[in-house]
Amino acid sequence: MPRQAYVNGRYTPHNDAAVHIEDRGYQFADGVYEVVPVYNGILVDEEPHLDRLERSLRELQIEMPMSRAAMKLVSRELMRRNNLSRGFVYMQITRGVAPRDHKFPTKPTAPALVMTTRQMKPHSAEALEKGVKVITLRDIRWERCDIKSVSLLPNVLGKQAAAEAGAYEAWQIDDEDNITEGTSANAWIVTDSDTVVTRHANNGILNGITRMALLDLIEKEGFTLEERPFSVEEARAAREAFVTSSSSFVMPVTQIDDKPVGNGHPGLLTMKLRETYIAYMNSLKEAG
Ligand code: PMP
Repeated sequence: MPRQAYVNGRYTPHNDAAVHIEDRGYQFADGVYEVVPVYNGILVDEEPHLDRLERSLRELQIEMPMSRAAMKLVSRELMRRNNLSRGFVYMQITRGVAPRDHKFPTKPTAPALVMTTRQMKPHSAEALEKGVKVITLRDIRWERCDIKSVSLLPNVLGKQAAAEAGAYEAWQIDDEDNITEGTSANAWIVTDSDTVVTRHANNGILNGITRMALLDLIEKEGFTLEERPFSVEEARAAREAFVTSSSSFVMPVTQIDDKPVGNGHPGLLTMKLRETYIAYMNSLKEAG
């Protein structure tokens, strides 16, 4: 069976899946999304992902298009149809279709829902052995980075700049010269005294679900942690660095711009945290 997508109530072949030209997501980026990782056939941290989805929607005054239980059913049905055991379920909800006008439509529109899946290959052995490079650039995003909006142009430009520099990610820098986060991942460092540091979550970053899961694991394992701003300078002098996201899990960073991090190899604590996170994913069971 060809890969299926779910579009506004119907399963349809992925290649033919389409939305209306006046969907406000298409015209104004008036919508939000979530990417739920699938590992061993299990949706990882589905509840926190749906919590964040509902929060993003609330902030933009968009209704949930269907109940949470129904969203879960569709995720599972898509995984079944697409034989997905490792990858993602992508969900996008927009304010719906209305004649183009910036303000919210006066006649309430039905929010539009699209769900797709994608297979993901295991991370490359080279990336894990050598670690990855990040570049740094100005954070030119808006003041509501806590909303997982489909309006991603600064992130797109940042990731393109990273790709052109042969880097995996771009870490963004705010007006105080602190690193906020990557374009699609949260940023972390480990200091000389083995303290794990990541920026506190407020409207300046997207509070990653992987970030939150790892914070819990760090606490359980008894590592020292600080949630606070850290500067580019501090990051360049750090002993270790890494990124977290639903697709990268915990990925060691061994170069920031043209400078190696620590001894230039993936950090010991970083790799321990990666193992801990993967063990956590392996421990998950299908709910119910
Ligand atoms: N920050 C940004 C800007 C992102 O796009 C992502 C990926 N969704 C993350 C952080 C990491 O979030 P998560 O761990 O939920 O994938």
